[in-house]
Amino acid sequence: MDVYDVIIVGAGPAGITAGIYAQRARLTTLLLEKLGVGGQIVVSDLVENYPGFQKISGSELMQKFEEHARSVDLRIEDEEVIEIRNGDEYKSVKTYDHDYKAKSVIIASGAASKRLGAKGEEKFIGKGVSFCATCDGFFFRDKDVLVVGGGNSAITESLLLAKIVNKVYIVHRRSELRAAKILQERAFEDPKIEFIWNSVVEEITGHDTVEKVILRNVVTKERSELAVDGVFVYVGLVPNTGFTDVGKDDNGFIITDENLATSAPGIFAAGDCRTTMLRQVATAVGDGALAATSAERYLSAKQRSTES
Ligand code: NAP
Repeated sequence: MDVYDVIIVGAGPAGITAGIYAQRARLTTLLLEKLGVGGQIVVSDLVENYPGFQKISGSELMQKFEEHARSVDLRIEDEEVIEIRNGDEYKSVKTYDHDYKAKSVIIASGAASKRLGAKGEEKFIGKGVSFCATCDGFFFRDKDVLVVGGGNSAITESLLLAKIVNKVYIVHRRSELRAAKILQERAFEDPKIEFIWNSVVEEITGHDTVEKVILRNVVTKERSELAVDGVFVYVGLVPNTGFTDVGKDDNGFIITDENLATSAPGIFAAGDCRTTMLRQVATAVGDGALAATSAERYLSAKQRSTES
């Protein structure tokens, strides 16, 4: 039975970086990824805040990450992890096809888009409701769309949509955006973007596809209708952490210490799946490097204690 030094779960920026560092530390490493290398950033049309690349698409950036990982012979398998068990001797990492063993694990499984929870949202997914402007924006050429949210995702994707569609309404539940100031400035200047402040989406309606939304102003409590052909939802993230029972916060993000150790010895977490105040490619990369180094130190300490 092969026992890996480290198994990494997830091939986004954090997992790939951890893999490169682990390979360079000469640890026997396996990276497991359920969807394909890249993580959430591959659907980003434009990345402008990863140093070294003034402007690059998420997919191109991650292609470079993958090439780098392959150049150090990182073993990457397309398998979904369904359970991690923390045994005394080693950790068991179960996929649908295998039960892998490892001395340490790095969870870098990222996060997925959160649902809005409005009436009609589920019914119209793929029929006007979308979570990815890069993937679906094209279907709304010259139409009117609504974007929900005030964070970096909502504003970045609104700027992309404004290049394609006729009109972008951004509905935000407060009167101030959470997004980076540079993105805010661009959105305020874009003639195709109009903000609807202090408002939430109560209902998305239509016949076969989205035709309108019912909005509620949270200050005045007034309801209004707005005719739109599409609704793009960017109200945050839910972590992909259901397969592990290490300590998490109330929203399911994995709690780590400053060296990215979780509540289970030898299991580390990196990137968007852990509690952190910033979720960027740059921070995920830093996490990946730190988690791999922490795993290496954990393995060395364990080795020393067995020898003594
Ligand atoms: P986020 O930063 O958590 O923002 C979510 C937004 O949705 C907030 O404005 C929030 O309002 C609003 N919201 C949450 N629940 C809502 C609800 N039920 N109804 C209406 N509005 C709701 O999420 P994100 O924008 O998806 O970004 C996720 C992470 O990726 C962040 O760390 C972000 O920085 C990063 N990211 C970075 C970039 C970039 O650097 N270019 C691009 C995309 C994403 P409040 O503000 O009132 O809480």
